[in-house]
Amino acid sequence: MKKYLLSVLTNNRKYTDAIAADPYIVKEDETSYCPKCKRMSFGLNWYPPYKIEVYKRNIGDIVLGTSSIIVSNKFKDVYEQNRLTGIKEFCRIEAVKGKGIKDEIELYYVKLNRYDVPIDYEKSEMKGDDVGWQCDLCEPNGELIRYVNGIYFKEEFPADIFYIYAFGNGIFLSERFIRVMESNGITNLKNNYELCDSYILPKWPKEDYEIAKALRKP
Ligand SMILES: [Zn+2]
Repeated sequence: MKKYLLSVLTNNRKYTDAIAADPYIVKEDETSYCPKCKRMSFGLNWYPPYKIEVYKRNIGDIVLGTSSIIVSNKFKDVYEQNRLTGIKEFCRIEAVKGKGIKDEIELYYVKLNRYDVPIDYEKSEMKGDDVGWQCDLCEPNGELIRYVNGIYFKEEFPADIFYIYAFGNGIFLSERFIRVMESNGITNLKNNYELCDSYILPKWPKEDYEIAKALRKP
């Protein structure tokens, strides 16, 4: 099965991004910490009130810009009707600020499960800074990832949309997730995801991308 990663660095200008509006409350909780090494590997989490600000009136079924994704009622229905997996909780957005935005718009901030899906480091090309420690779960390579040119896994994906322990807050997507969402016309997904096999970090200008692609391991 093909594997995908949500790519939030693309320049999609059609749909609005969102930022968390005041009061923006973040806290550490059990999901901030690696269960194995107990380090704070995954950062702080957003806590209620969930209020956002948008810049354009065109709100997609997926809204990027906050620490996870924000989704529409339609996304939630498609997800639930097709029994997709990986979402821990849909948290209702209480208020949407922005010019011309009706406050009753129904949006949800999504909290995702995190799984242990081992990366195949022999096949993947990743470079980083030595962090001086190693954890089999959250930092198997002992490096803070700075450069990625293809991510390969040793196992199939356990869910349809989720985080993994070894890749911070990158959001991984199954082939089924892409197929179900696209066939149901979910907007602002197209152009915002990439095949893990050809995922490149950081995003480079196109000519550099072609060079990097040519250098990719078969
Ligand atoms: Zn760890």
